[in-house]
Amino acid sequence: METVLLKQLRTYDPDALEPVIDRIFRTFGVYDDLRPGMTAVLKPNLILRSDPAAAAVTHPLFVQAVGRCVQKTGARVLIAESPGGPYAPGVMRGHFKGCGYTQMAEANGFLLYTDCQSREVALPQGRRCRQAPIVEPFLGADYLIDLPKVKTHSMVGYSGAVKNLFGCVPGLQKPELHCRFPERGDFSEMLVDLAEFLAPQFTVMDGIWAMEGDGPTGGDRRELGLVAAGRNPFAADVAVAALLGMVPENVDMLRIGAQRGLGPRTLGEVELLGDDFAALAAPDFRKAKVSSTDFVDRLPRALRPMAKKWVTPRPKIDRKRCVGCGKCAESCPQHTITLVDRKAQIDSSRCIRCFCCQEMCPQHCIQVKRLSLLKL
Ligand code: SF4
Ligand code: SF4
Repeated sequence: METVLLKQLRTYDPDALEPVIDRIFRTFGVYDDLRPGMTAVLKPNLILRSDPAAAAVTHPLFVQAVGRCVQKTGARVLIAESPGGPYAPGVMRGHFKGCGYTQMAEANGFLLYTDCQSREVALPQGRRCRQAPIVEPFLGADYLIDLPKVKTHSMVGYSGAVKNLFGCVPGLQKPELHCRFPERGDFSEMLVDLAEFLAPQFTVMDGIWAMEGDGPTGGDRRELGLVAAGRNPFAADVAVAALLGMVPENVDMLRIGAQRGLGPRTLGEVELLGDDFAALAAPDFRKAKVSSTDFVDRLPRALRPMAKKWVTPRPKIDRKRCVGCGKCAESCPQHTITLVDRKAQIDSSRCIRCFCCQEMCPQHCIQVKRLSLLKL
């Protein structure tokens, strides 16, 4: 049975946070894994350049606490990530700075990966995806620590430990994978392929400030007060998804992971340590407007494509707030967004509802629109 530790913590104050991470490392024996001369690669979620107070990115003080515990063993700390958009050294330096990581890393002697090298590799166990480009430090890392942000997600419903590993694919090659796997089920299976390949040794989830509503970037901060950790990223996600009032089996990537024997199916199959689950539970956590197309599968086959198109939420641009930066168009795998009079415009006939555009919009002016009938 996989073990997940849940801890209530409402602050990023290092004096409170570092003892929590220290206890987590002791509980799971992480200190015994690390040695002088090793490099631990820390993988936060830095989906876009954003003030950590907005709760879209893993908080730099959270990463600092983990990095400082790693350093106690004599191992080096390397922070690596690839957000959406172009993946280039100058962009990445600006990104780290904009998310509050540059100063934090310098103050602690952590390295920030800005070489932006990647390689196409085979995923031998892959069921849906047998080959993918991966950012260099994640290939053969001495020790990989997954540091996701707890968030909702407009395409796959929930973003945690497994989804965070999609950030190991370099920038604009992410939309290519969206294009190869436009359906949510196939996309989720690809995420499971990636997670199985990358196999982080440890996961610590930042849910102190989580994001609810239209995540992963356009939702609202929720002061959830949660730190969750474990060896198995699927188990950590099952525990946290359940805590947020979701049914883990309804989250495609978690169900697929369980079917493949990579993680537990239900909360009952997870050994919980730490604080009381019921006291931490947030069943009112606002969910993302993810499509629910189950009933479509009960329609005659010939009607399904049309019905699916009808019920699946679509991105809608608030033109008044759009500043014409073009970041949405840059990230669109279907090249279906154009700028007209310095305002973004979507050709919805070619849209595959991947919501990359929503993730990348710095103004948060792309909303998830679903038919009002389906809100009932
Ligand atoms: S318009 Fe947005 S949701 Fe549609 S394909 Fe492009 S990026 Fe994806
Ligand atoms: S990313 Fe947002 S602000 Fe920029 S062009 Fe697209 S919709 Fe407009």
